[in-house]
Amino acid sequence: MGTVTLDDLRKEFDNGQIVAVDDLSLDVTDGEFITVVGPSGCGKSTTLRMLAGLEQPTEGRIAIDGEDVTEIHARSRDVAMVFQNYALYPHKTVQQNMAFGLRMSTDLSKEERDELVYETAEMMGIEELLDDRPNELSGGQKQRVALGRAIVREPDVFLFDEPLSNLDAKLRTSMRTEIQRLQNDLATTSIYVTHDQEEAMTMGDRIVILNDGELQQVGKPKEVYQNPVNKFVGGFVGSPSMNFIDVTADSSGGVLHLRDDSGRFDYAVDADDYPKVSDGDKLSFGIRPENVRVVDASDGIRATVEVVEPIGSDNYLYLDFASDFIARVNSNIEPDPDDTVAVSFDEEDIHLFDGDTGESIA
Ligand code: ATP
Repeated sequence: MGTVTLDDLRKEFDNGQIVAVDDLSLDVTDGEFITVVGPSGCGKSTTLRMLAGLEQPTEGRIAIDGEDVTEIHARSRDVAMVFQNYALYPHKTVQQNMAFGLRMSTDLSKEERDELVYETAEMMGIEELLDDRPNELSGGQKQRVALGRAIVREPDVFLFDEPLSNLDAKLRTSMRTEIQRLQNDLATTSIYVTHDQEEAMTMGDRIVILNDGELQQVGKPKEVYQNPVNKFVGGFVGSPSMNFIDVTADSSGGVLHLRDDSGRFDYAVDADDYPKVSDGDKLSFGIRPENVRVVDASDGIRATVEVVEPIGSDNYLYLDFASDFIARVNSNIEPDPDDTVAVSFDEEDIHLFDGDTGESIA
């Protein structure tokens, strides 16, 4: 069983000058695939390294399978880590690389180890490479070996630290699917760190979003996409990013107007649906590019098209509501730059955030 519990985990560097991980708590269930995502420096790797036992927490506890491992040495934790740079021994063959962890951590005979390595190599499609050394392998093959070396040990938990970052885009996509397939088959608890929100969204049963060492939100990818708890998560998850417009609330006669400074952007909602919003509140209005619809001139809010960017199936229209405000529309909608269009949104697709704190206003 591979449950993982992080309890108020904190990591400081430089005598507390840097707080890399700030009181992080998380419960991972057995067999779950958790992705951890956030911008550079948000504390992803430090979190993973503490789980692996490569870094000692300043405060807090870590439990694996119910056992407190906070003080336990990396070698004695039943976890296997896969690194971005593969971390293979250059002078050992693939066979020796894969068998090395087994020799260190099990009482198997040489024959039993060889058989396990061969079976795992077959599972990874690298049985032909067992006698090769890492410098004879491509990046994708090296990463398969690194995965095989983790799998062969049958750990309670896999820890992945951006394992696909050094691969080209096409290989990355196919390895992504392969890791998911393996994880499904093996049902081993996995914690997977990436800076790529798309990777995190497509791979994770649940996704953990960090910023500045702090947990922002944890949930199923769809939940996080549909109900971001704050503006940071709203903007981080989804591509292209959520559009934001600074607005002021103006309510009269039961109607709540969300207007920008110029008054040109004006979206009206039923005031009863937003009991937490008061007249004069400064808010950030969020709408995803895929939720912006181009409508007849009389039915929408008018905007000027700045740039039209075709991406094949769809067009991105950059509108002058705010910088980088994108409407993702069908490719048969193809206005020219400087044209005026009218757009609308369904109320269920809009997001409102506090203008100061960025917290979602549900
Ligand atoms: P990246 O995606 O760039 O790898 P990350 O989210 O994995 O970033 P961490 O590597 O965990 O972030 O770093 C979190 C913070 O802790 C950063 O400010 C980083 O500079 C700092 N940090 C990490 N390791 C150390 C260290 N050994 N000494 C001092 N500061 C460190």
